[in-house]
Amino acid sequence: MLNIENLSAEVGGKTILNGLSLSINAGEIHAIMGPNGAGKSTLAYTLGGRPGYEVTGGSVRFLGEDLLAKEPHERAAAGLFLGFQYPVEIPGVSNVQFLRSALNAQRVARGQAELSGGDFLRLARAQADALGLAQDMLKRPVNVGFSGGEKKRNEMVQMGIIDPRLAILDETDSGLDIDALRVVGHGINTIMRKPDRAVLLITHYQRLLDYVKPDFVHVLAGGRIVRSGGAELALELEREGYGALAA
Ligand code: ADP
Ligand code: MG
Ligand code: MG
Repeated sequence: MLNIENLSAEVGGKTILNGLSLSINAGEIHAIMGPNGAGKSTLAYTLGGRPGYEVTGGSVRFLGEDLLAKEPHERAAAGLFLGFQYPVEIPGVSNVQFLRSALNAQRVARGQAELSGGDFLRLARAQADALGLAQDMLKRPVNVGFSGGEKKRNEMVQMGIIDPRLAILDETDSGLDIDALRVVGHGINTIMRKPDRAVLLITHYQRLLDYVKPDFVHVLAGGRIVRSGGAELALELEREGYGALAA
């Protein structure tokens, strides 16, 4: 599904990713862990196509196509979803308006018909129910006044509605209490744990991995993957820290 080969990228004229290679197959959940400043967020932004993140070498193929040749909205339409630590608030735009525009823009880009208001509402209500988001939250402005846990639940509903092929979640677990962690874990498992989906979970800590069991764990240090293993590698990192492993 995703094939990153020898990727190098710079931000602000500084090389941050330095020959990173990683392959993710459909049906797999990968976790990337690593110390602060290792380049984890840079990897997520570079894959998403954020301006200012300049690719200086290597290639990325997503579902058989050149991801780096696509504009950010084309990457989303191709099935890439990025989730971040701090969900944005959008005053004046309701969740339903926002999500319907986002989904329909992607459908049009894929040559599919737009969903009508009624069809979209049915989809949104079903996703809200599945993920435990109160129905009235759908009508409220995006994330405005939501608690940390509600924002996360909302983000999982967004992911469920968009229904991406690959979700890249960057420290989506930071600062969450146990209840919110469960929500995120349940959301990822419900929406993305499928044979034709995949997840790249970027996390500094092991605890989210108690809820979402990764098939592979990678350590990012110095702008590349320095070690890969199974779920047990996350526990080893938790015990021994990054210093010993990344050295
Ligand atoms: P991580 O997510 O692993 O903590 P980041 O990808 O956020 O790491 O950052 C990697 C490195 O890139 C850090 O040294 C950071 O200071 C640097 N960096 C990030 N953004 C910029 C920027 N806009 N300009 C210059 N350096 C940056
Ligand atoms: Mg960081
Ligand atoms: Mg980061």
